[in-house]
Amino acid sequence: MNLLFPAPPPICLTILPEGTLFPIRRIFCIGRNYEEHAREMGVVPERTMPFFFQKSPESVVAQHRLDEPLTIRYPPATTDLHYEAELVVALGQGGQNIAPAQALAHIFGYAIGLDMTRRDLQALLKERRWPWDMAKNFTDSAPIGVLHPIATTGELDHGRITLDVNGSRKQQGDIQQMIWSVNEMIAELSRMIALAPGDLLFTGTPAGVGRVTRQETLQIQIEPLGRLEVTVV
Ligand code: MN
Repeated sequence: MNLLFPAPPPICLTILPEGTLFPIRRIFCIGRNYEEHAREMGVVPERTMPFFFQKSPESVVAQHRLDEPLTIRYPPATTDLHYEAELVVALGQGGQNIAPAQALAHIFGYAIGLDMTRRDLQALLKERRWPWDMAKNFTDSAPIGVLHPIATTGELDHGRITLDVNGSRKQQGDIQQMIWSVNEMIAELSRMIALAPGDLLFTGTPAGVGRVTRQETLQIQIEPLGRLEVTVV
């Protein structure tokens, strides 16, 4: 291959416990997937059709070992950076038109993630009916913890998800409150595009999103996955 410049190395999650790497292919995120969060964003929750947006693998800050604290840089072009604690699902197998009942077999594992959002810019983009990309997909906008194989966790269809800012509880919910379950999300996405091994899904955030400023630390917990600590600098 005669490349004009060196291709960047793949961006990877670290798989527990051996530390094998999971190369990230694409990142799909669902919007408004918890009823109370949809309401806090001023939207009546509904189940007619899920909507998705993407983040680039380049937006990921990955944890290399369990309990390693992460830092992310405060982005330009916002004065209202928001946290959204989310369960991240990693696909080990791709496919098209996957039935919900078949979706589980496509899951490799789970991680704790944050869908960092420029909320002020997002509001402006919504108002103008422009795409959300610059509100969602920017440097360090997707910190993600280590990857736990489904072989060790089992299927995660329930479990507490919480987020604290400097030790004070801000977000609290349960995975079972998702409007579109993980299996339904995989099925719906696979009707739109061909899913592939390495794809990640951000599965939505419970109510309580809010602002984070420099030097604050976010602690996210999802019951069987432990805890992820992220400091904004
Ligand atoms: Mn989100």
